[in-house]
Amino acid sequence: PPDVERLGRHTWTFLHTTVSYFAPQPTPHQKSSMLGLLNALPTLYPCGSCAGHLRDYMKSDPPERAVEQGREALELWLCKVHNEVNQRLGKDEFDCATVPQRWREGWPD
Ligand code: FAD
Repeated sequence: PPDVERLGRHTWTFLHTTVSYFAPQPTPHQKSSMLGLLNALPTLYPCGSCAGHLRDYMKSDPPERAVEQGREALELWLCKVHNEVNQRLGKDEFDCATVPQRWREGWPD
């Protein structure tokens, strides 16, 4: 089975980076592609218990409205998803106001 920590770190990098470069005003094709990517995770993510938790979470907080609204709303949505996992694993909560610096602009020196 995959190394769940390493898989997680790299998956979060991919997801947060992809969401940070999502269009501020996405086209219908961009919206449906993003929803396809996110909604596939509970089925395809190769850590079964992680995928199960994610499925439950996404039932109560689905990504459709955030995808409809574009980059900024989706950055916040994904930050909340990740914070829910952080909380479950006893990790620190991440300040969602800093997502653009962390994943797109880079931290100031
Ligand atoms: P990670 O949590 O991997 O975070 C990487 C970096 O992202 C951090 O260093 C920080 O800079 C940034 N970051 C942290 N929080 C946020 C946030 N809220 N928003 C934006 N950026 C942030 N592991 C399990 O053991 N059980 C699970 O059920 C589980 N479910 C998972 C579900 C998904 C969808 C994913 C992608 C991963 C899951 N993992 C799970 C793995 C877990 O979340 C971590 O990736 C792993 O434990 C390594 O943690 P880390 O401390 O290196 O930092």
